[in-house]
Amino acid sequence: MPSTPARPAPLVDTHCHVDLYPDPAVVIKGIEQGGVYTIAVTNTPSVFDRLCEIANSARFVRVALGLHPELATERHRELPLFKARLERTRYVGEVGLDYQTIVEADRATQRRVLTTIIECCNTARDKVVTVHSRRAADDVVDAFGEHFNGHYVLHWYSGSARTLRRAIANGAYVSVNPAMAHSERGRSLIAEVPRPRVLSETDGPFVTVGSKPAVPADVESVLVMLAEMWAVDVAEARGIVYNNFSDLLNDSPRTG
Ligand code: MN
Repeated sequence: MPSTPARPAPLVDTHCHVDLYPDPAVVIKGIEQGGVYTIAVTNTPSVFDRLCEIANSARFVRVALGLHPELATERHRELPLFKARLERTRYVGEVGLDYQTIVEADRATQRRVLTTIIECCNTARDKVVTVHSRRAADDVVDAFGEHFNGHYVLHWYSGSARTLRRAIANGAYVSVNPAMAHSERGRSLIAEVPRPRVLSETDGPFVTVGSKPAVPADVESVLVMLAEMWAVDVAEARGIVYNNFSDLLNDSPRTG
């Protein structure tokens, strides 16, 4: 007799720009209906308050406080706002470094912003940080160091496998989005990540699924790829990623 299938574990999207869709309220409604645990990253501290208001009553949305590296030069004066709001959330992002710019002064500003943010997180303890590292993976991993006092998640990682292994040795998690899952290089990097460190994300609305901006429920397509890579069924992959997210949230020291 077939057994009753267990209820699937909730989906997890650890990096979604909820505020950047035409109608964030519609996306939040979908998140709530689907029960998709979503870290809603922001790109500047000034956006954080507004998104908190919109997501106020949402059970599955965690609003993160961020300062995107590509906006660091323009918005580094918002660092005091960042510091003032940090105690209001456990979640930080999008932060990081982006060396697409070849202007050394801009890279230096990005490093100064990221270093300050990491110092604040180390003092506060227990933060969950979602991190951008395009063309700057080594400097990002160096900035967090070996003893970060919280957890960081490398979002859409595209650096070398060697640097990725170094990050993992330092405790980093890696979040996989549909664009990564569908590229050969993305998959070869994901294969380097131990299963307990893998998370799912969409990076919506920037990543598209089909011809539409991805929404949090689209992490399902990441799970299909992970299931194939891990040779398990999709429900099991879903359970693994959800457990990883739970471990991440429960594992931090909260006192001392
Ligand atoms: Mn992003």
